Amino acid sequence: MYVVGESVEQVNEVSVCDLEALLRPDVAAMEEYTPILPFDVLSARLGLPPERIIKMDANENPYGPSPKALAALASFPHHHIYPDPEQTALRAALARYLGVPADRILAGAGADELIDLVCRLFLYPGDGVIVCPPTFGMYRFDALIQGARVVEVPRRDDFSLDVQAVERLCTSAGGAPPPKLIFLASPNNPDGGLVPRADLLRLLRLPVVIVLDEAYVEFAGESALALTAEHTNLIILRTFSKWAGLAGLRVGYGIFPMALMRHLWKIKQPYNVNTAATAAALASLDDLDYLWGNVRRLVAERERLQRELARFDFLRPFPSRSNFVLCQVVGRDARALKLALERRGILVRYFDRPGLRSCLRVSAGKPEHTDALLAALREV
Ligand code: PMP
Repeated sequence: MYVVGESVEQVNEVSVCDLEALLRPDVAAMEEYTPILPFDVLSARLGLPPERIIKMDANENPYGPSPKALAALASFPHHHIYPDPEQTALRAALARYLGVPADRILAGAGADELIDLVCRLFLYPGDGVIVCPPTFGMYRFDALIQGARVVEVPRRDDFSLDVQAVERLCTSAGGAPPPKLIFLASPNNPDGGLVPRADLLRLLRLPVVIVLDEAYVEFAGESALALTAEHTNLIILRTFSKWAGLAGLRVGYGIFPMALMRHLWKIKQPYNVNTAATAAALASLDDLDYLWGNVRRLVAERERLQRELARFDFLRPFPSRSNFVLCQVVGRDARALKLALERRGILVRYFDRPGLRSCLRVSAGKPEHTDALLAALREV
């Protein structure tokens, strides 16, 4: 008899079934996603106290949540009660903020959950999805979990989209069935470039759903939101993780075509946005001046990073409209550079894959973070 609370570490496993054989073979064969690590885990791994770590690896907001959000988190009295499954207050506040009817808005546990929800809404095994790498990895990841057929249309060397290749895939008769979804990030992660309006308008003419991920839009100052009023195949996803500094609380939202809303409601987890995330997001929307001040500071630091990084003869920064700068490392080992920075407590993201050879991505931080990074780069 097992007593609740008793340790089960010593139980002898008796195998009555072969778990591996029962697994979905596509999931069993999938590569693991490598997530970014939080301060406490990094601190233990690097042997540095958290305050000595400068985290420029995950495009987080170093200014953190607004004071109003922190106060709302501390004073919210109902964390013991399930959250509102209809997200009534949050959707109403978002509707006022965006100027979009609340009926077309749905919040999620981060934009990540909404990417997954869109995949679950549209994709049967074998259905086609277009992604344009290098880009955010979750589009491919969530589509593959649905068993979808992920078709990659690589970006050009300057990270621009090959719109013609996408058009061919969506209109070619006789070949594979046309794809159902195209995922695009604007600004794109990891380069920080926007999808040009002309490209977006061309893609919106195709018989597919365009999922435009605007996770970093606040740093770009240019959005496609207005297009959702006239294009019934456009979904826009956003998040509080970056501009509002709530990455750890997991809250994002989407603006969807009205025709999808009824079906999204059917498949979403009832309590997907928790009470803490809701309270903090509502308070953030009530503290916009403070948060926009931080966005302006981060944009200024991005511009400074771009200017200063270009002065190193081994770095080639790409133009960015986001809160990070991607750099190609030339004539030096990018991984060794990343590790040398890491030993000094400065974390940046390293990439070495097709389209992103020998690259580092540096998130914009506070001015003193840029100072420390530049000093470390001079040293190494
Ligand atoms: N989209 C892009 C392009 C991102 O870079 C990220 C975060 N790395 C997300 C979405 C996920 O945002 P969230 O924290 O809201 O899940």
